[in-house]
Amino acid sequence: MILGHMNEILQKIITCAKKGDFSSTRMSPTEGLDILRNVPWTEVVEAANVVRNARLPGNKVGYTAFRIINYTNVCEVTCSFCSFCRPFKSPEAYVLSLDEIRQKTIEAKAKGADQIFLQGGVNKEIPLSYYVDVLKMLTQEMGVTVRGFSPVELVRIAQYNKMSLDELLDIFKAAGLSSVPGAGAEILSDRMRQKLSPRKLPAQEWCDALAACHKKGLPGSANIVFGSDETDEEIIEHLEYVRKTQDLAVAANVAGFNSFVVWTFQPQTDSFPIRHVRGDEYLKLLALSRLYLDNIPHIEVSLLGMGLSLGELGLHAGADDINSIVIEENVLENHGLTTIEQAEKFIKDAGFTPYRRTLNFD
Ligand code: SF4
Repeated sequence: MILGHMNEILQKIITCAKKGDFSSTRMSPTEGLDILRNVPWTEVVEAANVVRNARLPGNKVGYTAFRIINYTNVCEVTCSFCSFCRPFKSPEAYVLSLDEIRQKTIEAKAKGADQIFLQGGVNKEIPLSYYVDVLKMLTQEMGVTVRGFSPVELVRIAQYNKMSLDELLDIFKAAGLSSVPGAGAEILSDRMRQKLSPRKLPAQEWCDALAACHKKGLPGSANIVFGSDETDEEIIEHLEYVRKTQDLAVAANVAGFNSFVVWTFQPQTDSFPIRHVRGDEYLKLLALSRLYLDNIPHIEVSLLGMGLSLGELGLHAGADDINSIVIEENVLENHGLTTIEQAEKFIKDAGFTPYRRTLNFD
């Protein structure tokens, strides 16, 4: 690529990155929108690859090994795209017992996992003591680290127990929670949230909940899920919400989002608009995320959703991480890897050096 033919802001970002400067040239929302709409995907991918290599030299690609445990499928939020949730009285409704969670954790450890990702629905019937007992059992008895609870779960659990979110986070952290996923973001635009999941948190409340987690010393990840009828402006709005939330963590000198994951919607139900996301479209947004989110160190490609071939290309488009092997997935169809050996081989075959990381990239 001849830099002189490249989009001006991409040229500036590349020039700064090559000097080790990753913060003085920030892409504005208007510039991001222009790139998303008008710049060829190959150009964005190339710029993201330069920035990724300058920022994270050494050709390393990370992966981790956690088991997702969906502790309940009862959820009152009823997002239009969700095929997992059940009403409280459904014959298929469940809440896993401590013993069932213990057993799943033993199985996960036997497969090499050392981390548990706790995620459920919003179930007001579950007492606070259940969460505390589960967290203590997992961390103190089983010796695993735990990431858990989407912002809407945390906010509702606090409300049901008549306490502030800060008070709940103190209790969960004392019981062993060490990080939080930025789950349930989908598209951070209130128009899309009204359309897809009107009972979920509005965009700013989602950000506020995670900012509260970060201040309490609970870092995590953020993501975007696209491929419905979101607009280009809403994709940039989403990236801007995430970048601003991370700016708060950086300013407060606390750990915030360690990584950002780019997902696409999967056709779980026929109650929401979904479209095919082409490979080049996915790679372009992955690359734009690397460039726009200049304050988030790691970008993860979604093997689970996009498959291995596109995932391999994603590692040349700004991503430096493949997330986790998938030991259990109840919500989405898995197109990814299921063992540590597969993860190491996949990364090596793609031309990189694998390294196993913790949930918090320690
Ligand atoms: S996506 Fe999550 S919050 Fe939405 S209905 Fe399903 S379980 Fe509930």
